[in-house]
Amino acid sequence: ISPRSIVQDACASYATLEKLNERVKPAIDDLTRTTDFFSHYRLNLFHKKCPFWDDENGICGNIGCAVETLDDENDVPEVWRAKTLGKLEGPLAKHPGKQEQRNNPRRPLHGELGENIGESCVVEYDDECDERDYCVLEDESATSKGDYVSLLRNPERFTGYAGDGAKQVWDAIYRENCFKKSSFSHAANLGTPFSKSPAAQDFKQVMDAAGRQAQLQLQRAQRPNTPFVANTGYEIEDECLEKRVFYRVVSGMHASISAHLCWDFLNQTTGLWQPNLQCYKDRLHGYSDRISNLYLNYALLTRAVAKLGPLLRGPEYRFCTGDLSEDMATRAKVNEVTTQAASIPQIFDESLMFVNGEGPSLKEDFRNRFRNISRLMDCVGCDKCRLWGKIQTNGYGTALKVLFEFDNNSKNIPVLKRTELVALFNTYARLSSSMAAIGRFRQMVAAEDEAE
Ligand code: FAD
Repeated sequence: ISPRSIVQDACASYATLEKLNERVKPAIDDLTRTTDFFSHYRLNLFHKKCPFWDDENGICGNIGCAVETLDDENDVPEVWRAKTLGKLEGPLAKHPGKQEQRNNPRRPLHGELGENIGESCVVEYDDECDERDYCVLEDESATSKGDYVSLLRNPERFTGYAGDGAKQVWDAIYRENCFKKSSFSHAANLGTPFSKSPAAQDFKQVMDAAGRQAQLQLQRAQRPNTPFVANTGYEIEDECLEKRVFYRVVSGMHASISAHLCWDFLNQTTGLWQPNLQCYKDRLHGYSDRISNLYLNYALLTRAVAKLGPLLRGPEYRFCTGDLSEDMATRAKVNEVTTQAASIPQIFDESLMFVNGEGPSLKEDFRNRFRNISRLMDCVGCDKCRLWGKIQTNGYGTALKVLFEFDNNSKNIPVLKRTELVALFNTYARLSSSMAAIGRFRQMVAAEDEAE
């Protein structure tokens, strides 16, 4: 089997996911844009300090990581400046607080959430973190339970947050939280043709469950003297599958953020919000590994959402207690998304991970590192970026928890918290939009090439 066939298989997975997304996107957009439950997120956005470096003044304190924005910021109108673009819009509604909840657990939330918002749909009860969580829950240590934010009023898009501040956070995410020396160092991997890159092999191994057997044969054929199962799990070159997947989840999230900020970009000359093709070319077009990582994340979340589907139909999950019709409407929309996600053959095969040798300890390491990444979100010096960074790390953390901690045959399946569900489905919606945006950008590049 030649490397060429690996790429073809990966392409087949790409095509399957793109086809799936044509059906998932309308359903997930409907769910996240039209229901109160999924369009409001509760988080502690302003009161947590960056745990890794001094972030007085909302950003890190040392001069080197002050947020730089556009060079000519002073030349653009105030409303287009990064500081303003990064600010949250709309009213923040306070959580009712523990005492009030205890006194009257069905009491509707007081606070403005925007027009026509059924308040009782967003009340949330105190919940505890457990050791199966892959991210630090918003309410873990806070006495105040944070604010509700309208996600519709604060879309993820270009904010102008850039420079040393943003770089420091990405660097910390990649360098300080990566497992030991990685062959996926983002600098090292640039320019590698996809067919020759380890990403192509990974893609095949994790995503193509149907071809798993063939892949085992391929491994043996390519390296007949190397034992297939090594202590660290599924060894490929000098990194095991789990460590690569970890890197790729982060890189895929980064690619998705880039896709959104390029797609919903503010042209500071005209003041219009529009796609920025050059931004896409600079960050994504030449980087097949980044796009591949984004697709891997889409496959991972598809699998988690599909796996969760039957559970969400159970009585443990209520989407809007107190308003039966809203509850039923939300439930029907959730059902549509999970049914679509389950409509393709399983592409991401989580059963390959954490199964051999030091699997369980590696899993804990994986979980702890992911929690660190979620903590790093408190170091992001732009409100909107921090909001979406927190939602997405929680969304991936929830997906990992569903994949690796939920045994559908067990009686002890944890019930997900509201913040986890909202984060999971909104992260799926983000990935779905990123895939659509990348598809449109590709067409724009092709049209440009044709015109030349
Ligand atoms: P960056 O995107 O900062 O990347 C830094 C380096 O990482 C690059 O030079 C490259 O070597 C490498 N790299 C880039 N992409 C990948 C990838 N996918 N995989 C692996 N390596 C990669 N800005 C907004 O306008 N809107 C937002 O909503 C927003 N949200 C953010 C959320 C977080 C958590 C963070 C940390 C930043 C956010 N930003 C946002 C800022 C944005 O991500 C960029 O940092 C900024 O636009 C500057 O981009 P850059 O070209 O310097 O490269």
